[in-house]
Amino acid sequence: MEKDTLFVHAGTEPDPTTGAIMTPVYFTSTYVQEEPGKHKGYEYSRTANPTRTALENAIAQLEYAKYGLAFASGMAATDAILKLLKPNDKILTSYDVYGGTFRIFDKVYKKFNISFDFVDFQDLQAVKNKLNENSYSLIWLETPTNPLLKIYDIKAIAELKKDAILVTDNTFASPFLQNPLLLGADIVVHSATKYLGGHSDVVLGAIALNDEKIAEELYFIQNSTGGVAGPMDAYLVLRGIKTLHVRMEKHCYNAQRLAEFLSKHPKVKKVYYPGLPKHPNHEIAKKQMKDFGGMISFELNSDKLEDAFKFMKSVKIFSLAESLGGVESLISHPASMTHAAIPEEERLKAGISNTLIRLSVGIEHIEDIIKDVERGLESVN
Ligand code: PLP
Repeated sequence: MEKDTLFVHAGTEPDPTTGAIMTPVYFTSTYVQEEPGKHKGYEYSRTANPTRTALENAIAQLEYAKYGLAFASGMAATDAILKLLKPNDKILTSYDVYGGTFRIFDKVYKKFNISFDFVDFQDLQAVKNKLNENSYSLIWLETPTNPLLKIYDIKAIAELKKDAILVTDNTFASPFLQNPLLLGADIVVHSATKYLGGHSDVVLGAIALNDEKIAEELYFIQNSTGGVAGPMDAYLVLRGIKTLHVRMEKHCYNAQRLAEFLSKHPKVKKVYYPGLPKHPNHEIAKKQMKDFGGMISFELNSDKLEDAFKFMKSVKIFSLAESLGGVESLISHPASMTHAAIPEEERLKAGISNTLIRLSVGIEHIEDIIKDVERGLESVN
């Protein structure tokens, strides 16, 4: 089945009692049993709820996986995966994972004696050396990265992983553009808050995987710790998935056109977009992604914070907000928002300059988007 067809139908079947074509929202905490233990597959909604089941089946299908799980947020999904570990386990990751992921590593799990090593996943020899010198339980990979849109080679890293469980955060690409399990990853995690939901109206997390034993452990953790997705949120993501392919095609088209426009503009120093041939990981992106996504970062020629602020104030279509992946265009400023807690010197070393601006390119008309960005650029020196 082609993805377009898969996404429209994934997880949903006409309701057996009413014929309703869309999965109902089952607002119920419990289920009547005919006699103790005799029920229709549902006992209590922390353990399972039919709307959530429909979404979990959809997530599995989208990632070509056997198992899918839905959580209250992307971070709740991340937390469930980390609960697979035990004290003294080691994780290999990179510094440019989502800030919230770095925070849960550093502030929540470190104190349980789980340690973290960092590597540049672009440097496969360095990854190989780390894996030869240490025994890792888990590798945590995010690609494309935020906000510099680096692309890591999932297949090459999967070939090096040894016994480690390779987790890939597929939030930025979405299952329309990239399927890490098909490239050798063991677990895929999503902030479904972003492209899967697609309308900035829900917070939800998702996991997909094939390994039966790990899946059983994750279902156990999900039920035991209870960070599950509620039925209304599950419904919203299920609905969002039906148009994922249509939205992603437009996000990618708009982002490519805007990146080309920005890369020719005299007031722009550098554009970070994997769809540009000069992007250092363009060839890997071409190999592992169907298209290049809806996220762009760029730097102004000026290095003054106030110029970034002027730009953000002048645009009208782009709203200044955290998050990404919704139908509407959003703008954010890593130096003063997501990365504000990092000391300036370290932040600059990591490539997050004062005028680095991140755009989540929406699905508005491209001419309006370009005009808006032009207006922003006119406002700066
Ligand atoms: N992973 C990535 C790449 C993200 O961008 C985010 C949120 O921004 C998360 C995980 C966490 O997801 P949530 O905000 O749904 O908890």
